[in-house]
Amino acid sequence: MSLENCVSSLLGDGVCVLPTETVYGLACSALSVSAIEKVYRIKGRPATNPLIVHVLNHAKANDICFTNEFSEKLANAFWPGPLTFILPKRDCIPRQITAGLPSVAVRSPAHPLFRNVLERLNVPLAAPSANPANKLSPTCPQDIAEAFGKDCPEILDGGPCELGIESTVLDLTSEFPNILRLGPIGQTSIEEVLGCPVNCTSGANSNGTKSEIPKTSPGQESKHYAPDTPLYLYPNINVMLKSNHLKSSHVMVLPHPPVFAKKTKQGPCSLYFSQTGNPLDISRNLFSTLRRADKLNKEIIHTSLFPDNDELYYALNDRLGRAASVRL
Ligand code: AMP
Ligand code: MG
Repeated sequence: MSLENCVSSLLGDGVCVLPTETVYGLACSALSVSAIEKVYRIKGRPATNPLIVHVLNHAKANDICFTNEFSEKLANAFWPGPLTFILPKRDCIPRQITAGLPSVAVRSPAHPLFRNVLERLNVPLAAPSANPANKLSPTCPQDIAEAFGKDCPEILDGGPCELGIESTVLDLTSEFPNILRLGPIGQTSIEEVLGCPVNCTSGANSNGTKSEIPKTSPGQESKHYAPDTPLYLYPNINVMLKSNHLKSSHVMVLPHPPVFAKKTKQGPCSLYFSQTGNPLDISRNLFSTLRRADKLNKEIIHTSLFPDNDELYYALNDRLGRAASVRL
């Protein structure tokens, strides 16, 4: 769809798909209850799972929530970008967006098309990932068309997403900042800017194991972002390559081509998350590769956690942990 049509659809309480640098979002006016209800309906999202509101900058964020010193420092450092703040909401934000919570999630997206739409509309936009609830997030227009079929909302094509995983969600409603969802902006980068320690109660730990700390963010169930094919998740590549679960009717997903599986008659076929092994390339392709693996209609997808040597891998391990049906 054209930018003009997108803007007029959103002004008329319509819903359309917009590109962001993280994943594609199903956007609507954050001030229109009827549009928000459409978004929940199209996604099949439970009403208990709140939406992120997108704004142009920190000053605009302050129109919808009570910003503070932490959010200001972090917005200066990371906005526009993949960092979402949870802050006390103002009355203009309908309770349907926040699932009845007194706080709202807000971020400023970097994608030029999304920003262009925000500038023209001058209205905050709610935009959860443009996928049916609990499925893999879409990172290119084709993913959305395939997931929604004939009911697919109109899409503003912004090409493949630059980052490929959802934003970091940081709760700033209490004295101590707390990461509710791991994402492209890591804990140490946030700590460096704030000059104080930051907690992390995301549903999974950096090594992909389930956190012992109870989750505090709605919609962050430990099974989420999942392909349809069962996914077996190994602690590292070596354990996976030695596994006796691997069969020719399965597919194995590896970080990059220099890592070869021993080709045997019984062995599964292999896919790669990237050609380079670079964490950002892997992130960009994480969901699209799992989608490709899913489409092969094999019995099982095998993959392994990434090493603990890069903050982006913590977020990727979190997503793999949520996609997994079996942990080995
Ligand atoms: P999505 O827009 O699909 O990427 O996911 C948005 C996620 O942000 C939700 O699933 C929640 O985990 C989190 N979130 C949104 N609003 C709040 C809030 N007020 N408090 C805590 N977490 C929130
Ligand atoms: Mg989502």
